[in-house]
Amino acid sequence: MTIYNADIADIFNEKRYKIAEVAPYVESLMDYLKTVCGVKSVAVAGGYRRSRETVGDLDILVVAGNDTAVMERFAAYDDVVDVLAKGTTRSSVVLRCGLQVNLRLVAAESLGAALQYFTGSQAHNIAIRQMGGQHGLKINEYGVFKFEERVAGDSEASVYQAIGLSWIPPELRENRGEIEAAQAGSLPQLIEPADLKGDLHAHTDWSDGGNTLEEMVQSARDYGLNYLAITEHSDRLKIAGGLESSRLLAQIDEIDRLNQELADITLLKGIEVEILQNGSLDMSDEVLGRLDLVIGSIHSYFGLPIDKQTGRILRAMDHKYFSILAHPINRLIDERPPIEVEMLKVIQKAKDRGCYIELNSNPRRLDLYDTYCRIAKDEGVLVAIDSDAHSVDGFNHLRYGVGQARRGWLEKDDVINTRPLGELRKLLSQTMG
Ligand SMILES: [Zn+2]
Ligand SMILES: [Zn+2]
Repeated sequence: MTIYNADIADIFNEKRYKIAEVAPYVESLMDYLKTVCGVKSVAVAGGYRRSRETVGDLDILVVAGNDTAVMERFAAYDDVVDVLAKGTTRSSVVLRCGLQVNLRLVAAESLGAALQYFTGSQAHNIAIRQMGGQHGLKINEYGVFKFEERVAGDSEASVYQAIGLSWIPPELRENRGEIEAAQAGSLPQLIEPADLKGDLHAHTDWSDGGNTLEEMVQSARDYGLNYLAITEHSDRLKIAGGLESSRLLAQIDEIDRLNQELADITLLKGIEVEILQNGSLDMSDEVLGRLDLVIGSIHSYFGLPIDKQTGRILRAMDHKYFSILAHPINRLIDERPPIEVEMLKVIQKAKDRGCYIELNSNPRRLDLYDTYCRIAKDEGVLVAIDSDAHSVDGFNHLRYGVGQARRGWLEKDDVINTRPLGELRKLLSQTMG
């Protein structure tokens, strides 16, 4: 089985930006462009639309009337620090954050074709154009053509339909089987942000979080979550204010007390326990057994050789109390490489043991890779899309986890925290001895 981590080309490319770094800039710019007189629609394409972990530059398409001054207004946007090119149908600028943005004016009748073309990926588009050829059709950014006649292209769906396919969600467009699935009518119904009912990994100021328990609860509630697991670090992670067992027991009491008061959200009692170098867990069974869930993770000995690292994690997952393996590959994008671990064995262990694997939504992590999400799905291992929030703003990261999950073909039923509380409790209790 081939495992794709990132497009090799991108690794050697110019600076790339984490998707969460650019999202606020992109959203403000889109809002601004929509207010320009004569602009009928604005759409973002490229890797950003495909929810890539990082983006190199940004492609925006605009449909506008003839008399529009959209190119002038684009160049005059507040956040623009450099105008690289300014034409009548195409301009490129650099935003204050360093990101290059390309704006293209397209005809309404070509919008779908242009969106399809500029969204990519390249591998997907090559396959689509080849299929067009087999149907006697020429597919380009202006439309779908039979000889000189335009037969489709105003909407993306029309482009796919012209070659007998249903519309393919952008996150799947990597030529990893999505075209065959569209042909067979078996495309996944991808998970949506609103499908998440709760979050199973969050910190408060009891360990290294920046907000109080009460503040985190309020924020989770505002975000629309029905349940929230509080999972502080364990004692060994001193640098992150890890809890000794007596402190964890005190927090358990505090959560019990809060749950009496809370009407519309339920707190779950958990821990993010250190997986020690030998694979044992940094907390006694007696205390772990009192929790609703145990998240295990590693924050040390990243450099162990692959057999030792894999053995360490597998041993931890075999523990009597072990619910979720958090941020399994432990990379930080552009900061720290992933640990060396045989993820196929880890996923198999989760299946055999009946525990779960996390997709950590922190934009620095986005840990699992999309490809591992897909393997977990194929193996029937449920994934937990967690925020790992360390402050009240942290829940906003869940959207990036969902984006990554969509790239990994995950549907609502593949994700444990889409379950209502009762069902979730059952699934967690199976992992707790
Ligand atoms: Zn962690
Ligand atoms: Zn954490």
